[in-house]
Amino acid sequence: VAHDFNNLLTVIMGSLDSIRRQLEDTPSEPDVARLRRLQGMAFQAAERASSLTSRLLAFARRQPLNPEPIDVNKLATGLTDLLQRTLGERIALETVSTPGLWLAKADRAELESAIVNVAINARDAMPEGGKLTIETANAWLDDDYVEALTEPVPPGQYVMLAVADTGHGMDRQTLDRVFEPFFTTKGVGKGTGLGLSQVYGFARQSGGHIRIYSEPGLGTTFKVYLPMSSLTMPVRPLRDSAPTVTRG
Ligand code: ADP
Ligand code: MG
Repeated sequence: VAHDFNNLLTVIMGSLDSIRRQLEDTPSEPDVARLRRLQGMAFQAAERASSLTSRLLAFARRQPLNPEPIDVNKLATGLTDLLQRTLGERIALETVSTPGLWLAKADRAELESAIVNVAINARDAMPEGGKLTIETANAWLDDDYVEALTEPVPPGQYVMLAVADTGHGMDRQTLDRVFEPFFTTKGVGKGTGLGLSQVYGFARQSGGHIRIYSEPGLGTTFKVYLPMSSLTMPVRPLRDSAPTVTRG
């Protein structure tokens, strides 16, 4: 469908371009000037639609997921340098790794791009700077918890990854729509509205689930729950089991 749509856009843009050429040979009267402006606007809209189509195609072409056992502490710590560079100097990054964390079962590349997508949103929400905290924990989702959810999530053991920012937060209307593809509150050319639909699609396809806590002015926390891998070794609690804090 995206390809067919793009073909139609090519025809529309071709026609608009020949209108432009014919208008160029016409002496400039107020009517002609107005037609030129309209032609220009229509052409720009068609160009934008065409670039959205390529993004849509790239989004749909994604490989099927390749789930493997993942140490989320290690993965998050490994991303520290990349994230700190993405966030800039005015945002402090802190990663709190819980000891004895179960292995998660997920696609490594998709999990990394989910974390980057959430971090970029956090950066955009903190234009004056702030703090980004990444934290992990083991989580049991019990019957009561999963029954209250709108989507089917089996009860059981999950690895939780929380990403919290101190940014401007979200109101109810925004929160209700964040996972919609192409939903963005950022200006034209700034947001694609595809970041969180990737994160949502990834979490659902992994058999996991996402929870968002956000209030205007009070920052935002994303909690991603990924199913525990069956390869997780039962660990005896360490005597000294304080979390490890990594700063970017
Ligand atoms: P984009 O970043 O391209 O706008 P996303 O799908 O990543 O698209 O996010 C959709 C919208 O959700 C954003 O435009 C923004 O309004 C809101 N949002 C996402 N993350 C945050 C955050 N950490 N703080 C405040 N608003 C957020
Ligand atoms: Mg985004």
